[in-house]
Amino acid sequence: MSHGIPQTPFALLSGSAGWGVRFPDDLEEPGVRVVERGLAFDTPWGATDNWQLVELDGRATADGRPRRFLNVFSHGWPIDAIDHSAHRRVAWVLAQAGVRKIVADSTCGSLNKALRPRDFILPGDVIDFSQTQYSVLDGRFRHLCFANQMFCPALGGVAARIAQDLWPGPGRVFGPDTRIVVAHNWGPRFTSRAEANAYRQLGADAINQSIAPEATAAREIGACFASASYVVCYEDGVVPGGGEALDGIHADLAKAASRISLRSMAQAVLNDDCGCAGYRVERPADYATIAQDGPSGAR
Ligand SMILES: [Zn+2]
Repeated sequence: MSHGIPQTPFALLSGSAGWGVRFPDDLEEPGVRVVERGLAFDTPWGATDNWQLVELDGRATADGRPRRFLNVFSHGWPIDAIDHSAHRRVAWVLAQAGVRKIVADSTCGSLNKALRPRDFILPGDVIDFSQTQYSVLDGRFRHLCFANQMFCPALGGVAARIAQDLWPGPGRVFGPDTRIVVAHNWGPRFTSRAEANAYRQLGADAINQSIAPEATAAREIGACFASASYVVCYEDGVVPGGGEALDGIHADLAKAASRISLRSMAQAVLNDDCGCAGYRVERPADYATIAQDGPSGAR
């Protein structure tokens, strides 16, 4: 049941990477057309808004054919409230649309003194101690979701190759092969010095406020997920002094990041060779048997 939701296998979850950029208008990329904007969809948990449907003609797409992708502003977060459940509404829409390839863009803070502000990263793994209470799974009995390969190496590789061409120096591009580990912290505040130190000791290179619920939701709906993010600051205590002002970095890089996101939608390859879909497994139907009086009886 589509509920009026456009059907497409591609979706871009826009985040702070492109705040302040009119997307895709300001990029003036050839062959890009907004089919419809200002879209809102009803979900079982309320409405989600600020969606648009964008069409790419065949000039830039991986298969030379026109394609459309769904795009939501700012991870689907409400403009005027902090709402952790917003990711579930977004994921439900993506599932109804039949989305299989998801790119999310964002900014992040560095926990690793060798990962500098202005660097662009496609992470390889995540640390998320919270996980989300707002799962889109229909109960615990029906599916297993493994955490192997939470970030699609194929989709991340596409974004990394595009970034190698577009990302301005002195920032560098770290593709999924570098296995950058990103910790998730809901925010909205940044980490304390003690928290940053704790995450660093646990192996995180960067920290992000949207990445884990999106990666988890992508796994729950059987889609590939890549996170395209750039570093806007060191977290407190990582280096003495902390570095340059965050907003200046953002002003310099928001357009380049948005262009990488757009071209990643064009270049994403629609197959399952990466293996991500295999990490969501349907369980035998009789697992859901109620032991006391179910049709299969107790085992
Ligand atoms: Zn994949």
